[in-house]
Amino acid sequence: MEINLISDTVTKPTAGMLDAMMSAEVGDDVFKTDPTVNALEKKVAKMFNKEAALFFPSGTMTNQTAIKLHTNPGDQLICDKYAHVYNYEGGGVSFNSGVSCKLVDGHRGMMTAEQVEAAINPPDFYHSPLTSLVCIENTTNKGGGACWDFNELKRIKAVCEKHKLAYHLDGARLWNALIARNESAYQYGDLFDTISICLSKGLGCPVGSVLVGSELEIQKALRIRKVFGGGMRQAGFLAAAAIYALDHHRDRLKNDHSRALEIGKVLEGLSFIKKVEPIETNIIIFEIDEDKMNSNEFVEELKQNNIHIIGMGQGKLRIVTHLNYSDDMHSYFLERIANL
Ligand SMILES: *Cc1c(COP(=O)(O)O)cnc(C)c1O
Repeated sequence: MEINLISDTVTKPTAGMLDAMMSAEVGDDVFKTDPTVNALEKKVAKMFNKEAALFFPSGTMTNQTAIKLHTNPGDQLICDKYAHVYNYEGGGVSFNSGVSCKLVDGHRGMMTAEQVEAAINPPDFYHSPLTSLVCIENTTNKGGGACWDFNELKRIKAVCEKHKLAYHLDGARLWNALIARNESAYQYGDLFDTISICLSKGLGCPVGSVLVGSELEIQKALRIRKVFGGGMRQAGFLAAAAIYALDHHRDRLKNDHSRALEIGKVLEGLSFIKKVEPIETNIIIFEIDEDKMNSNEFVEELKQNNIHIIGMGQGKLRIVTHLNYSDDMHSYFLERIANL
């Protein structure tokens, strides 16, 4: 038995998902004539009560497209220092949009409305970059799957309105937050100009991400996706997996969350573990007490037991639960770590 907990992206399509893909009706999506892609876009737009949506190959491309459509070269966006758009998108903010990031020193990837407001450059001071966009991430990846307080998101929205800034949500794992906090997609659609969601994380699709926004924003996004080389042809096979996942794999995220909590409890009881960060969703970030055990050795020892986890640098390790992590694997894993 091989247990891979490095990410929730390691999942393989379930039998039901493969069936849905095999029987998908497809067309050429570059001509916008793939009925299944069109159905997916309509479905996701409706879920968020937005005018339109666009299917993409990756979450990086949806975020980069959103940043491109909300900014001009030379502008600055505001995000937390942990933000995926800043840390893990290959410098695309500058490469694709000619934009810089003003980093906020938030807590677990989350900032306050006061911090956001303080990070805005005065628009009439032409020496500094023009602030035009605020990017939020929910759940936060590097922040350990933490969920935002929705009230703070509303307060930041008020700051955006006051200063005429666009408001984008990187919702790669928004599904996890909606389940954990009992929130609705509608609430988020109401608040943000654009939202990117991923289908290839907790929902278990092989590929896919969707951007939602107004009709005008999505028209612009279509052109940008073309420029980025993200147009796909018979993408309905992938969209069918996405529709299946939205219908069948959202509720079960609560299992990933409860298993993550159980893992966290066992980790907390181990003498060589210094700290386990609070667990709200499916991500567990923890630190080894390097005086007692070397973190690389710990990862290696798990590997010898066919268990794979990943280091995040600075002595931090990460575990992510997911769809292909079965009850059997869970019992075996808990038993193994308790006896290391
Ligand atoms: C995974 C992820 C993305 C997008 O990643 P892709 O691998 O390009 O799909 C964006 N934001 C966050 C927070 C993520 O975790």
